[in-house]
Amino acid sequence: MSGTICLTFDDGPDPTWTPRVLTALRRRSAQATFFVQARRAEEHPDLVEAMVEAGHEVGFHCLDHVRHSQRTDAGIEEDVTIGTGMLEGLGVRARAWRAPWGIETDATRRLAGERDLRLWGWNVDTHDWRGDDVRKMFGALEAQGGLRGGDVILMHDALGPGARREGCPETVALTELLLATAERAELSTATVSESEGVLA
Ligand SMILES: [Zn+2]
Repeated sequence: MSGTICLTFDDGPDPTWTPRVLTALRRRSAQATFFVQARRAEEHPDLVEAMVEAGHEVGFHCLDHVRHSQRTDAGIEEDVTIGTGMLEGLGVRARAWRAPWGIETDATRRLAGERDLRLWGWNVDTHDWRGDDVRKMFGALEAQGGLRGGDVILMHDALGPGARREGCPETVALTELLLATAERAELSTATVSESEGVLA
């Protein structure tokens, strides 16, 4: 084994696209992390359950998809308190947190420490929200040297604010292609929390 990569999916769950991502992961016996929007999770508890049952990690993304740099400290605290509480109502104790757009403030970091949440960014951005086709996204990734052990890869299994696409079929296709590529490169997959201590 030459390394481990983390596939991460933000903004879901989505009743159309999340099941397709889950199927793509299952076909390759891969693990991934879903940074969910709490209201969408509450609307689709079955999808959250399917993630957990398949061994994926459910991390917290947000209650309201607003940049922390545009919120008060109290607003960020309310977001994480209510949002993670909603996930707990679904039986999920989040350990991982990815702030909207990955934008963290001092308050984000303080709250993460207080709530025992680890903040996660990414080092590989697929830009899948732009609506590019799978070949273009994969080509861009290869131009940057391809997949490497330790990569944390950002994708979206639902439409978030600013998405320039109607759906997420190219993300499903990219997931399949990345997993096939990882398998050939003898890269394994892990959830972000499982990867702690494994990733460089
Ligand atoms: Zn997002």
